This record gives sequence, C-alpha cells and structure tokens, in this order.
Amino acid sequence: MSVLETIDVIVVGTGNAASCAALAASEAGAAVLMVDAASEDDRGGNTSYAGGQMRVAFEGVDDLTKVIADLTDEEIRNTDFGTYTASDFFEDMARVTQYRCHSELVEYVIGQSLDTLVWLRGKGVRFEAAFGRQASKVNGRMTFWGGLPCIVWGGGAGLIDALHARAAKEGIRTLYDTPAVGLLRDASRITGVSVLHKGELKEIRAKAVVLACGGFEANAEMRTRYLGPNWDLAKVRGTRFNTGAGLRMALDAGARSYGHWSCAHSSCWELNAPEYGDPVVKGAYQKHSYPFGVMVNADGNRFVDEGADFQTLTYARFGREVLAQPGLFAWQVFDQRAIPLLRETYRIRQLTKVQAPTLEELSHRMEGVNPAGFMKTMEDFNRAAPDDDAPYVASIKDGLATRGLTLPKSNWARPVDRGPFEAYAVTAGITFTFGGVKITTAAEVEDDGGTPIPGLFTAGEMVGGLFYHNYPSGTGLTCGAVLGRTAGRSAASFVHGL
Ligand SMILES: Cc1cc2nc3c(=O)[nH]c(=O)nc-3n(C[C@H](O)[C@H](O)[C@H](O)COP(=O)(O)OP(=O)(O)OC[C@H]3O[C@@H](n4cnc5c(N)ncnc54)[C@H](O)[C@@H]3O)c2cc1C
Repeated sequence: MSVLETIDVIVVGTGNAASCAALAASEAGAAVLMVDAASEDDRGGNTSYAGGQMRVAFEGVDDLTKVIADLTDEEIRNTDFGTYTASDFFEDMARVTQYRCHSELVEYVIGQSLDTLVWLRGKGVRFEAAFGRQASKVNGRMTFWGGLPCIVWGGGAGLIDALHARAAKEGIRTLYDTPAVGLLRDASRITGVSVLHKGELKEIRAKAVVLACGGFEANAEMRTRYLGPNWDLAKVRGTRFNTGAGLRMALDAGARSYGHWSCAHSSCWELNAPEYGDPVVKGAYQKHSYPFGVMVNADGNRFVDEGADFQTLTYARFGREVLAQPGLFAWQVFDQRAIPLLRETYRIRQLTKVQAPTLEELSHRMEGVNPAGFMKTMEDFNRAAPDDDAPYVASIKDGLATRGLTLPKSNWARPVDRGPFEAYAVTAGITFTFGGVKITTAAEVEDDGGTPIPGLFTAGEMVGGLFYHNYPSGTGLTCGAVLGRTAGRSAASFVHGL
C-alpha cells in the first residue's frame, strides 16, 4: 500500500467532534489532516443537519454573555435566563438515562461545557439566545427553561461553516471522498489509517489518530443487528455516511465496546420523508409538538404518555415507540387549542397532514387508522382530561393530567374537542446510535483491560457510556465539542511525548 500523506494527527470525520479535535490539536502545535468519506458538499456529517442547540451549565446571565455576544441590555433586563447548574445538568442526564450514564465522563463534559462554548466563540462560532425555541412568556416576562438558552447562529451548518473557516485559516487540510477503512499499527501504537482515495487503497501515516466519524445509524444492516427488527425500516434523520466504519475499526484494534448498543436516539419524523436526511429540509421533518395533543396508532389507540415530561426530555425515545406500533406509524392529533401553538416544522410543504371539522370525519381521513378504535380512544381521553382553559405553556409542567386512564397523559392534558382538527402522520427517524467505545476523560480509547490504546483517541457519536434509553436535547453537540477538543489536545500531547 503506498503512502498518501504523513502527518502528526489524522482526524477522521469533518463534523463537530472532528472539527473541534482538529482545531485543538492544531492549537497545541500539531500538524493536522482531516479526511471525510463524504464530498465537500456533504461535509460536516450529522452536525450539518443539527438545529444547533447546545446544552450548557451556567450560573446566570453573566455566564451566558461570555458565550452569546449579541445580547442587548434590554434583552438582559426583560428576560429571565434563570440558571442551569452543573448539578441540574447532571440530574437531567442521570434521570433520562435511568442512572446508567458514566458519571465520571458526564461530570467531565458538564464541567467543561461553558468553557468549551466560550472556546468555540473564540474560534469564530456565533451563538444567539434561543428566544423562539426555549423561552416563553411567564407572568409577562420571557423565561428560559431546560438548560438550552444557547443556539448556534445558522444551526449545525453554521457551526460547521465557522469551524471549517477557522481550520482553513490555520492551514488544516481536508481530503474529501476519502473514507477511512482501517487503522494501521505497529507493535507499540496506532500509526495511522488506511483510506480509499481515488479508488485506491492508501496509507496515511500519523503519530496519533482521532476517530470522530459517527455511529452506525445510516447502516441498515447494523441497525437491525444491534437495535432489532424493523430498525432497517427507520428513516435516517441526517447523513448517509455514518455507517459504523469508525466503530468497526476501533473494535478491530482492540477497543472496548461500551454503552447502550441496542438503543438509539430516534424521534417522530414525517412519514414520507426520504430515506436519509434532506440537506434543504433538514430537521423540519421532526414533529415535536405532541405534548399539546395525542398520538394514536393504526388501531386508533394511544401508546405513550405524551405529557410525561418536557418534550426536550421525551422526544429522543418516542421514535422507538412509534417504530414498535403496527405498520410503524402514528398520527399526531391536535385541536384548535393547540394548532396555533404548533412549531414551525408543522408549517412546511413536505407533510402528511389531514384536516376535518369533526373528530368523526378526521377518523376516516387518517390513512391506516381504525376509525372506531380512534373514536373510542378520543371519547375516553376527552372524558378523562380536565376541562381546563389554561393555555398550553411548554416551559411549565402544568400537572394537568388525565384521570382514570390506564395510560395517562401526565401534563398538558386538555380535551381534544375544538374543531377543526388537524392530524400529522409520523414514523421513526433515527438520529444517532448510543453504542460506542470506552474512553477516558482524556478521550483516549481504552482496550478491554481498561488500558489506553497508544495513539488512538475518539469523540462524538462514537463515544459509549453517555446515553442509555434516552437523551436530553442539545447534549450531542456539547459532548462532541468538549470531547472533540479534549481528543485533539490529548492527541497533540501524545505526539509531543513521542
Ligand atoms: C436533524 C438533526 C437535528 C439535530 N439537532 C441537534 C441539536 O440541535 N443539538 C444537538 O446537540 N444535537 C443535535 N443533533 C445531534 C448532533 O447532530 C450529533 O450528536 C452530532 O452532530 C454528532 O457529531 P459527530 O461529530 O460525532 O458526528 P457527525 O457530525 O455525524 O460527523 C461524522 C463525520 O464522519 C464522517 N465519516 C463517517 N464514516 C467515515 C469514514 N469511514 N471515513 C471518513 N469519514 C467518515 C462523516 O461523513 C461525517 O463527516 C441533531 C441531529 C440531527 C440528525
């Protein structure tokens, strides 16, 4: 195999984790090269599809002004940004992962979250306050909730543009259309990667390797093998290039498999969306306003507690619930109390939507749904829901719950009885997989015995041990940035130590 390049640090991938690793390694004095299986047009992996929300621990607005440059005095005066302490963040991670997440790694990520967002800002990433998404009026004042006031300007694509502009400025080159296919090693350490470049197998020799090339969400065979039946039929919300190649390479090199391999982040996604993410529509296929309505399956039955928790803490497991229903689809049903409050993603053209003046008529328009089953569900639900006129407020768990239903709706329960009605068809969209490899808090990849494999680092979706069962929104980019930056620093320091 001929040698294509020789470099200090090779970074596999060009998404958030990879870009942060490349910039941090370069900052620490290493010569860095990035490779991506994708073309330049498709660079940035899932990060390019992301909404750009980044969960961060902060003590108050003074911390946020270190990240968000454009907050005006008036906004600061008229807004309650609240706090989201490190222990709030940890409690959310622990609770949604059913207390399984790796506490040392999670504490490390949370402890570094604010500093890393400030570092990103220093690299040219612009943040804004997520007023439109994460704040609502409470007692006349805009009030943030849920630890998500920071969003990248331009979303994930804006993040990638900013990081790549900075990388280019720092002389970091990228080879596109160049998938990594294996790790090179000698007796003592990892010595580079083999890649396919212009149809030929080549070596890129490096003193350290950072794998940041995603999970296996875009690989139908691996989805079925690890997640189970019907996952081959899920829609992929993002890039087609995250096929598990990095995980396979790491495992082949002796990395310890770690985390929740039989689970993934997946959410309610437009039924007729394309097989992979659409670079124009992006996240607008997602349908996350279900707390203000009900979801029914082909039998016309509800199958989840739509108001179990804040949407940011339930959406990542509801795709799985939809996939478990007959026909792998569901309809989300809303009445006039909810329709004006539906998110902008319910206003795009690429929708499977029906409308009707009455529930009876709606029941015949929702394709695949048993009308009698649906009518029985709605009668039972509407009887059990408190007839309260309080408006829906996403930022407050209002405690208005159904009474007497076997499957309750625990918050935001109101009768769905004010026509005309709307219903939206959804299936499961997979975002990323939870299984990965075990790393130290220095992003070194561990072998089965717990010893770091010399010269091998990883970050982003490839890291195991962060997410089990579920995921708090905005955490993927934060984990990727913190551990990507750490991986880059550790790789550079490893190179300097050789
Ligand atoms: C629609 C959508 C919305 C989202 N919104 C948010 C959000 O608002 N906030 C949030 O925190 N998270 C969000 N996420 C999740 C977030 O995007 C991911 O957690 C994060 O981007 C993963 O970053 P990464 O660097 O690990 O992987 P990616 O960004 O996916 O990068 C992986 C890279 O590896 C490359 N690659 C794959 N295989 C190879 C190979 N063999 N050789 C070379 N290169 C390879 C890919 O082409 C890609 O460049 C969203 C995801 C989606 C799909």
